[in-house]
Amino acid sequence: MSEQPKSHPERAAVLAVDIGGTHLRTGMVDPALGLHAFNQVSSQAVLNVANPAERLADHLERFLSGAHGWRPAAVAVGFPATVDRKRRVVMSTSNIAAMQNMPVADVLEKRLGIPAFIDRDVNMLLRHDLRAHGLTSARVVIGCYVGTGLGNAISINGTIHAGRHGVAGELGHVAMIGLHERCGCGSYGCLETVASGRHLADLVRTRFPGTPVQDVFLRHGDEIEIKQYVRTLAVPVALEVNILDPDAVVLGGGVVQAPGFPRALLEEAVVALARKPLPASDIDFRYTTSGQEAGLVGAGIHAWAALGGPVPTHIEELQHAGSARK
Ligand SMILES: [Zn+2]
Repeated sequence: MSEQPKSHPERAAVLAVDIGGTHLRTGMVDPALGLHAFNQVSSQAVLNVANPAERLADHLERFLSGAHGWRPAAVAVGFPATVDRKRRVVMSTSNIAAMQNMPVADVLEKRLGIPAFIDRDVNMLLRHDLRAHGLTSARVVIGCYVGTGLGNAISINGTIHAGRHGVAGELGHVAMIGLHERCGCGSYGCLETVASGRHLADLVRTRFPGTPVQDVFLRHGDEIEIKQYVRTLAVPVALEVNILDPDAVVLGGGVVQAPGFPRALLEEAVVALARKPLPASDIDFRYTTSGQEAGLVGAGIHAWAALGGPVPTHIEELQHAGSARK
């Protein structure tokens, strides 16, 4: 992961961090949004411990000591959690038990000596996807990301909508009539209890034991249970489409990006549930095309914008996908 450019011994870059339920990814994002020094470890090992903010700072100090040639201008972290309005405190997450009411931004600024910016992980993802799809000047864009949970982000005129308390876009925690299961957020009957990667993993374990979750669409995509699961994913998407009538709907996350995922079936189901004749007959579906680097680049975008720099409005996908493999 080390890189030692000869002509620019100390180039400025954002220390970008993407924390998911499974992986903690780190990289350096330059002002042109190129990603360098990509690194990935288990997030539970680093964070599901006492004092997770301090352990994260330890991890980032170690990472920086190996990221030769890059000078961190700021640190930006996306969390699978709600974050307070001022973007200083990680409030609540349903996936990493130890991360509750954590003043991460203050801890990172003190430990690393650089400005720290934090946000929900899906907001970082949508910042990336707006640029990957040329949507920064669109009026309303929604992102629905089916990973371990069901993530949602809303962009209005190119700005992520945060809401009064900073917690807008908790689509996965809308309660549905007929659902009663306890959710990781503490409530009951949330959409995320059925429209999430966690639910798919449970389904595969009970109905298709022995099949790796990531292969389920390839091996069992024609089975009624899997088709029904995909139609269930359409419920939250159509719900938000009906409310916001967005210019585009970005779909992504580990489930949607799994091999053989039936995009056409999902789109048909969203159209079937959306209000007729419009918006149902004219929904612009887009897909996250990049993988593990999107959240890091999104974090870089967030920090460079906060630092006042001009941020590119388009991303050449292959450019940063290529640099991620270095
Ligand atoms: Zn919930």
